[in-house]
Amino acid sequence: MQDTNSQTPYEERDHIDLLLDDDLRAFRRDVRAYLRDAVPEETRNRIDRGYAPTKSEIADFLAKLAARGWTAPAWPVEYGGTGWTQLQRMVFSSELARNAAPGIPPFGVSMIGPVLYTFGTQAQKDKYLPGILSGEDFWCQGFSEPGSGSDLASLRTKAEDKGGHYLLNGQKIWTSKAHYADRIFLLARTDEAPRRQGGISMFVLDMDTPGIVVKPIVAIDMNHSLNEVFFEDVKIPADGLVGERGKGWDYAKFLLGNERTGITNVGRCRRQVERLKRLARTDLIPGVDLSKDSAFLRDLARVEADLTALEISEIRILSQGKNGPSAMTGPSVLKLASAQIQQTLAELIVSTLGHYAAGRGAEFIEAFDDLGGLPTDFVDGALNEYLFGRSVSIYGGTNQIQRDILARAALETRP
Ligand SMILES: Cc1cc2nc3c(=O)[nH]c(=O)nc-3n(C[C@H](O)[C@H](O)[C@H](O)COP(=O)(O)OP(=O)(O)OC[C@H]3O[C@@H](n4cnc5c(N)ncnc54)[C@H](O)[C@@H]3O)c2cc1C
Repeated sequence: MQDTNSQTPYEERDHIDLLLDDDLRAFRRDVRAYLRDAVPEETRNRIDRGYAPTKSEIADFLAKLAARGWTAPAWPVEYGGTGWTQLQRMVFSSELARNAAPGIPPFGVSMIGPVLYTFGTQAQKDKYLPGILSGEDFWCQGFSEPGSGSDLASLRTKAEDKGGHYLLNGQKIWTSKAHYADRIFLLARTDEAPRRQGGISMFVLDMDTPGIVVKPIVAIDMNHSLNEVFFEDVKIPADGLVGERGKGWDYAKFLLGNERTGITNVGRCRRQVERLKRLARTDLIPGVDLSKDSAFLRDLARVEADLTALEISEIRILSQGKNGPSAMTGPSVLKLASAQIQQTLAELIVSTLGHYAAGRGAEFIEAFDDLGGLPTDFVDGALNEYLFGRSVSIYGGTNQIQRDILARAALETRP
């Protein structure tokens, strides 16, 4: 296949160049140079292959970012943010993915951090924000329960006001990283209110509080990232209540809006496109020249065009700011489009690799003696990414729920 960029080193190419001015290009060079040194080669290789970074890889990386003041770019400067523009932040997050960096876990920086500095008490800000900024405190999100996912307002975990503390009983599920998180933010029912949403409050809690039990859920990719979390007579100190009692639903909506905008993963998708192009240049399948296979080329061109459209849409929506015309629909549009693109790319890679994609782990991979010139680690992890990637259209609000949001917005704005 003719790769028009084949003379340009990968990290120098960019598809949004036309949209960046000189200052942004200089900014990107600075970030790129920094990340090249900040991510150890071994970590980069594992992440590139589709494996999730380990806790210690994330912690090492966050410590480096913290030293530069780059852990929470979107936060207001007074709380430790960078003061970057929306576009600078987008370039930064795109560079994290392009450099296969461990990334910044969303739970502290993008989710509870902004809730705390917006609605929390001064004591909560003083207690929790520094650990998020330094990357030392890992958080998890206790929202979903068995039977309460999309219909989150039906949640049954209860926090009874005992005067001086709340007594928490119930169960959460799908709690990502709860097995190594230091703290959890959660929703619990504190009151019976006429509107179900009205009786929900948000709390922050240390994970080593007596009465919390974490049980692993090993997912289809055979990795442990998800958990069930049980609460049995757990005492939440009164100062663990976030904002006002009964306002948890409003804070959750505020928080989930942030979650959906962070999900596009354009940089990672660009790397996947590069992988596919590399794949097409090999002799993996005897007698098949993928670079001349019209079905493969059509699929690749289509997903690359969709990706460019997503990237431009993200820039457009972010440039409009929080109160722009796409404020209500933008996050859902971006989440839907990116979920589809991420899944299409993973599917294309796996279907192109064929039976080689079944390889997982070094020993298995070594059993393949001929990979048509591909390095063996190229196939390792492809299946993991494909399998776990099925969940992109579920977490952060399923595709159906996003479509529902869009349909409502469209119908409500009709004349
Ligand atoms: C990898 C992964 C990580 C996650 N991490 C976390 C986490 O850290 N913390 C946390 O709290 N949660 C987490 N979740 C849970 C996630 O938020 C829920 O799975 C999600 O909200 C869907 O809820 P559910 O699984 O209960 O499915 P359900 O809500 O039961 O939905 C089942 C199906 O019905 C459809 N459906 C439901 N309601 C409607 C409707 N009104 N209209 C049309 N279709 C509908 C859904 O789209 C879906 O296809 C995670 C999930 C995954 C997969």
